[in-house]
Amino acid sequence: MEKTLAIIKPNAIANAEEIEKMIIKDGFTIVQRRRVLLSKEQAMEFYAEHRDKPFFSDLINFMTSGPVLAMVLSKDRAVRAWRRLLGPTSVAAAIKKHPDSIRARFGSSDTENAAHGSDSAESAEREIRFFFPDVTLY
Ligand code: ATP
Repeated sequence: MEKTLAIIKPNAIANAEEIEKMIIKDGFTIVQRRRVLLSKEQAMEFYAEHRDKPFFSDLINFMTSGPVLAMVLSKDRAVRAWRRLLGPTSVAAAIKKHPDSIRARFGSSDTENAAHGSDSAESAEREIRFFFPDVTLY
């Protein structure tokens, strides 16, 4: 079964229970879960690929503004299925095109878009190891 990394971001942590219900209802198994307060260094490492983007400092400030809930989700084609349940990065687009998605329901801006999902099997492996170094991936 494929695994992916989900993060409930600080602006949606109050809705974590409801989001977890959506995850289970969609057929995922939550294999691991961990609530963490990221340091700036950890957030910068996690989002290193975005370090030259104009929104980088906003993103790091936001991701370290409160606890996040990191989860390993398992399902057939989990990476794609979780991105679908998440909805588009832009909350405005999510509301317009996928009103039932997590970002449409719980996102508040393009930065504070409620949750994260790995974008490929390779990123999922790296991101799962970042939060859960001991997890067995295969
Ligand atoms: P994530 O990696 O969190 O699942 P994503 O893959 O849909 O999101 P990325 O392009 O990887 O989107 O951007 C990472 C994060 O940076 C986004 O989730 C969002 O919080 C923030 N972000 C992306 N684009 C913008 C933007 N144009 N303005 C502000 N913040 C942005």
